[in-house]
Amino acid sequence: MSQEIDQTNEKEEYEQFCTICRRPESVCGPLMRLPGNINVCTSCMQKSMDTIENSDIDFNQFRNMDLSQFGMPVVNQVETEEEDGEKKEKEKEKDPKIRVINLGPMGLGGHQPKIKKKKDGPKKPPFTLDQIPAPHKIKEQLDEYVIGQEYAKKAISVAVYNHYKRVVTNTMDDIQIEKSNILMIGPTGSGKTFLVQTLAKILNVPLAIADATSLTEAGYIGDDIESVVSKLLAAADNDVDRAEMGIIFVDEIDKLAKKQNTTSRDVNGESVQQGMLKLLEGSDVEVPVGANSKNAMVPMVTVNTKNILFICGGAFPGLDSLIKERLNKHASIGFQADLKDKYDKDPDLLSKVETVDIREYGMIPEFIGRLPILVTLTGMDEDMLVRILKEPKNAILKQYHKLLELDEVDLEFDDEALRTIAKEAMKKETGARALRSIIEKFMLDIMYEVPKDENIGRVTITKDYLEHKGGPKIEMRTETPHHLPDKEHEEK
Ligand code: ADP
Repeated sequence: MSQEIDQTNEKEEYEQFCTICRRPESVCGPLMRLPGNINVCTSCMQKSMDTIENSDIDFNQFRNMDLSQFGMPVVNQVETEEEDGEKKEKEKEKDPKIRVINLGPMGLGGHQPKIKKKKDGPKKPPFTLDQIPAPHKIKEQLDEYVIGQEYAKKAISVAVYNHYKRVVTNTMDDIQIEKSNILMIGPTGSGKTFLVQTLAKILNVPLAIADATSLTEAGYIGDDIESVVSKLLAAADNDVDRAEMGIIFVDEIDKLAKKQNTTSRDVNGESVQQGMLKLLEGSDVEVPVGANSKNAMVPMVTVNTKNILFICGGAFPGLDSLIKERLNKHASIGFQADLKDKYDKDPDLLSKVETVDIREYGMIPEFIGRLPILVTLTGMDEDMLVRILKEPKNAILKQYHKLLELDEVDLEFDDEALRTIAKEAMKKETGARALRSIIEKFMLDIMYEVPKDENIGRVTITKDYLEHKGGPKIEMRTETPHHLPDKEHEEK
C-alpha cells in the first residue's frame, strides 16, 4: 500500500520529457505516450509526420522487413497485449504485420532519468529567514567536527549566513547584496573539503565536489565546466529547485593557474577560468540529467546558478614565496625597513595573502573578483593532529573504539602513542590525511588478533607497540562477555 502511495507521489513529483527533443513536459506541452516508454511531444510528432509526408521513400517496403536481422528486437504489439493464447493466434492471423520496435535496448525509451518538476510560483528556499542558523550557531556545529582553523570556520559561517539571507529574501531593490562565493586556500590535508562537507551537512543543502584538474574548455577531452552543475543536480535528486540553492566545491583550483611561457592553447587552465566566470556570477545553464555529458539521448534541464554558493579550494603551492616577496618589497623601503629574512620562518604567512598574490600566481582578475571571500587555513601541527585523532564527533579513534566495543573490548591509546602517530603523520606532509593510513596499518593486527581470545577485556596501544619494541597492553576481563552464552564460555 505504502509502495503504491510512493509510486503515485513519484509520478506527481517527476515529469516526463520528449524522447526526441528532450524538453520536459512543462516546456513542450502534453506528450504522446508510445509503447516502449517513448514519449513524443506534439511538435516533434508533427515534424516527423511532415518529414514522412514530404519524403519520396515508400514506407510500404518496410512493412514486411524482418527487423531482427539488423539486431533490432521486435515485439508484436498484439502478442504483448493479449494474454489468452488462442486469441493471440487469431489476432496474429488478422494482421501479422503490426509490429512495434522495442527501442529500449538502443537507449531510446526504456529506463530514463527523471526530472523533478519545477514548481510554479516563487521558489521555496530550503529554509526561511529565521531558520537560517546564525553564524555563531553554524560555527558551533562546525567545531564539533573540524578541529582548529578558527578563522576559516568563522569567515565561512558569516559568508554562508549572508549568502542564504540573500537567497531567502531575494533582495532585488537598489542595494543588491552581492554573491559571496568563497576562495579557500590551505595546504593539503588541512580540512578544506572536510569543512565544506560538514557545512553542507549542517545546512542540509545538496553539495557537489568537483576537481578542477578534470575540467577542460567545452569541446576538448575532459569534463565540461557545466558538468559541475550536473553533479549538483544529481546530488539534489534531480530536484532543480533544491539544486539551485546548493553548494558547489571546486577543489584544486590552483591547477587552473595561467601556464607561463606556453605557446599552445591553454584548454584546461586559463580557458576554464574564463568558462567558470558566468557560472560563478549566476546564469542559466542547460545541463544533462543523470549523465556527465550532453548527448542526444539525455534529457536537458535549465539550472540557474545565481543562488548556488561556489567554494573554490586549493593548496596553491609556492604562493608563500610570492607573499614573502611582496612583503619584503614593502618592508625594505623607507624608514621602517625590516630585516629581509623576517618572513622566512613565519608559519602564518599564508594568512597574509592578498588578491595581488593570487593574480601573480596565475589566476585571472575577473575570476578572483567573483570569489570575494578569501579564507585561509593553516597547516597542521602535532597538537592539532593529536586533537583530530580523538576530539571530533566522528574521530578515527572513536570509530575504532566503537568497533571493538561491539566485541565488548575496550580500546585505549595512551598519550605517548597519540604523539607518536602525530609525529609520523607530520613526516608524511599530507596533513590529517596521513592519520588514517598510519592507524589502519597497525590496527589491522589488533583487529585480527583480539577476537581470537574472548577473555581480552581491554587493549591499550602504547608507544612501544607503535615503534615495534613491544606488544600492546592487554588486560583480561573478569566477567563473561554478554554476547557469549555462558555455557560455551565455561566449557572453555
Ligand atoms: P584538503 O581538502 O584540505 O586536502 P581534507 O578536507 O580532504 O583535506 O582532509 C582529509 C581528512 O582529514 C578529512 O576527511 C578529515 O577526516 C581530516 N581532517 C582534516 N582537517 C581536519 C580538521 N581540521 N579537523 C578534523 N578533521 C580534519
